[in-house]
Amino acid sequence: MSMKINTNSPFFYNAHDLPRRAGEMREAALEIKLLDNLGIPLLSVPSGSSVSLGLRLESVDEGILATGQVHAVAIGECTRCLDSITFPINQMFQELFEYEAKPDRKQKSKATDTDDLDVDDAFFLVGDFLNLETPIRDAIVLALPINPLCDEECEGLCVTCGEKWESLPDNHEHEVIDARWTGLANWDSSNGKNPEVTEK
Ligand SMILES: [Zn+2]
Ligand SMILES: [Zn+2]
Repeated sequence: MSMKINTNSPFFYNAHDLPRRAGEMREAALEIKLLDNLGIPLLSVPSGSSVSLGLRLESVDEGILATGQVHAVAIGECTRCLDSITFPINQMFQELFEYEAKPDRKQKSKATDTDDLDVDDAFFLVGDFLNLETPIRDAIVLALPINPLCDEECEGLCVTCGEKWESLPDNHEHEVIDARWTGLANWDSSNGKNPEVTEK
C-alpha cells in the first residue's frame, strides 16, 4: 500500500488543525463524494453519491484516534427476486492512525516476503493526512448483508417461468405438457362445449 498523499482521493483528511498533544480533540462533518462504487458487487454505495461522515479526531500518545459515524445508502439487487433494493447504512468505526513509522528494515523485509494479507493492518498518518478509505470501506462492507434481500420473506422467482412467486397463484406449477394434449390447451372452456362433440 502506498504511503503517498493522493490529493485526488476524496478519503484523505487533513488533520493539520489538531494539536499533536494528547487530549486534544476535533470534530468534523464531511461529505465524501465517491469516485467508485463502495461495497460488495451485489450491493454498494454507487460512484457519484456521497458518504456522510461524522468524524472525531483525538490526539493520543501514539498518533490520532479517529472515530467515524458512516451514513450512506447502498443500492443493489435482491439475490432471490432481482428487484432493486436500497439499503441504508449507519455504521461506526474507530481506528488509530499512528505517527509515521520510522523505516524498519526488519518489518519491511517481512512485508515483502509475504502476501498483503499478512501485513499488519495498522494505519499511519501521512504527514498531516489520514487516509480514511479503508476504515470507511470496512465499515460499509461490515454493515452490508452477505445475501441482500428485498425482504426476509422474499419467495424469489419460479425457476421455470421467471415470474415472482409473490405474484403467482398458490397453485402455480409447470406441468410437462404431453403433445397429445396441445389441442385441449386451446379449448376455451368458457363456452361449455366440448370441442370433440360436433354440433349437428
Ligand atoms: Zn426479493
Ligand atoms: Zn412458473
